[in-house]
Order: sequence, then C-alpha cells, then structure tokens
Amino acid sequence: MSGLLEGRRAIVTGAAQGIGLAIGAALADHGARVVLADLDGNRAEASAEAIGRGAIGVGCDVTDESEVNRLVDRAVDELGGLDLFVNNAGITRDASLKKMSVADFDAVITVHLRGTWLGLRAASAVMREAKSGSIVNLSSMSGKVGNPGQTNYSAAKAGVVGMTKAAAKELAHHGVRVNAVQPGLIRTPMTAAMTPEAFATTEATIPMRRAGEPGEVAGAVVFLASHLSSYMTGAVLEVAGGRGM
Ligand code: NAD
Repeated sequence: MSGLLEGRRAIVTGAAQGIGLAIGAALADHGARVVLADLDGNRAEASAEAIGRGAIGVGCDVTDESEVNRLVDRAVDELGGLDLFVNNAGITRDASLKKMSVADFDAVITVHLRGTWLGLRAASAVMREAKSGSIVNLSSMSGKVGNPGQTNYSAAKAGVVGMTKAAAKELAHHGVRVNAVQPGLIRTPMTAAMTPEAFATTEATIPMRRAGEPGEVAGAVVFLASHLSSYMTGAVLEVAGGRGM
C-alpha cells in the first residue's frame, strides 16, 4: 500500500478485534508503527503478531487513568513519539429503559466517555508539545439518531461528539486535530451478538442495503489520520451506507 502514514507512530484502543483491529491493520498498511491496546492483552499481542510490521500488542483498560498514561508513555518510549491516537474501545449493554440497570448505564458511559477522555488527555499532552498530531474518536450513528434499547450507548456516543468538538477547539492552535467517525451497522463481534432477525431488520433500513465491513470504517480513520485531512478538525464523518443521513 501507499506510504501515506510512513513513519507515523500510532495507538489504537480496543484493537484486539473488530473495527479497532481493522484500523490498526490499515494504519500499518499505510506505513505507521502501531500499538494495539486492549483490555485483553493476550489477544492484543496475538493481533499485533498477525499484523506484523513492528506492531505491538499491549494490555490496557481505557477506564483506568494510570493504565492509559502508562500506555502512552510506553508508546512514546518504544516508538520515539506519538502522532496518531484512535479512541476505539467500546462496549454495549443494551436493554429497554424498563430493564436497564444502573450498572449497565454506568459501564457504557465509563468506557466510552471516561475512556475516550483519558486517551484524549494523555495523547494530546504529548502531541501539543510536538505541535502536531491527529486524534480520532469512535462515535456511532446511535449517538446521532438514538437507538431504542441503547439509551446508555446513544448518550455515550453523542457525548463523544461533544468531547471531540470541545477538544478540537482547545487543541487546534497547538497543531493537534481531533475528529470523529460515526459508523452505522458494521459486521464485528459486537454486532454478532444481535439476533439474525434484528440484524436483517436493521440491514433492510440501510440505503446501501448492507452492513459495513470493519475495513470500511478504517478507511475513514486513515483519511482523518493523514495529511489528506489537514484542514479538518472537529468533524464527524458518517460511515453508515447512507443510514440516518
Ligand atoms: P468489538 O466488541 O468487536 O471490539 C471492541 C474491543 O474493545 C474488544 O476487543 C474489547 O476487548 C475492547 N474493550 C472493551 N472494553 C475495553 C476497555 N475498558 N479497555 C480497553 N479495551 C476495551 O466492537 P467493534 O464493533 O469493533 O466496535 C469498536 C468501536 O466502534 C466501539 O467504540 C463501538 O462502540 C464502535 N461502533 C461499532 C459499531 C458496529 O456496528 N460494530 C457501530 C458504531 C460504532
């Protein structure tokens, strides 16, 4: 592939599988050195080995302040700096309002909002010193249109958009860009948890009449990570086959 990201140093969270793994592989394809971080460190290491090209797998819980700070320190030590950070780690705990527990609400808000904020804070501290960097946050179409059964997740993903724009305004004059992507229905282990009927019903509402593949989200992230998007910050790109436009 191209050397679009040649020499760039990147961290992707939640990268042992699914969209995060596809993003890690795509960044490496375009020449970046990548750290794949995940709650499951063993799987992150196996995924890094599968990607090759110097990719490193690391265990990290994005909700833990010291683990996130250590992750960024380690990447800076081993790669010599940090140019790209992708806040991708995520979970769902779907239930109707009638059935959702406070624990399910808190878990989803904590992973997506505290997790993204901790990554943003640690990565931007390094990038503003270097006066350069790109941070990409994973939101969701659920945060734009709201999905029934996902009051926790929709709130978290809408929050990621607000956080992206606030951080973009704080960091723009330091040479650090912050953007978000909003995937629609993407075929990953997360959506494999849906019943085949629910998956098919959702797929039928998509103008392109199909779910997306993880690599199709990764393409948008590569664009936002690269100089091709050099005048973009605070933007939210929908990668959803036309759903919810
Ligand atoms: P996935 O469940 O397949 O993978 C998520 C990864 O995040 C897993 O490897 C998991 O171990 C890791 N993770 C979870 N909690 C973590 C934590 N506290 N710290 C570190 N890692 C953690 O999910 P996916 O479908 O690949 O989703 C990736 C991102 O894209 C998420 O933010 C998700 O909300 C978002 N998204 C997914 C879809 C979709 O249709 N799949 C649509 C819109 C947005």
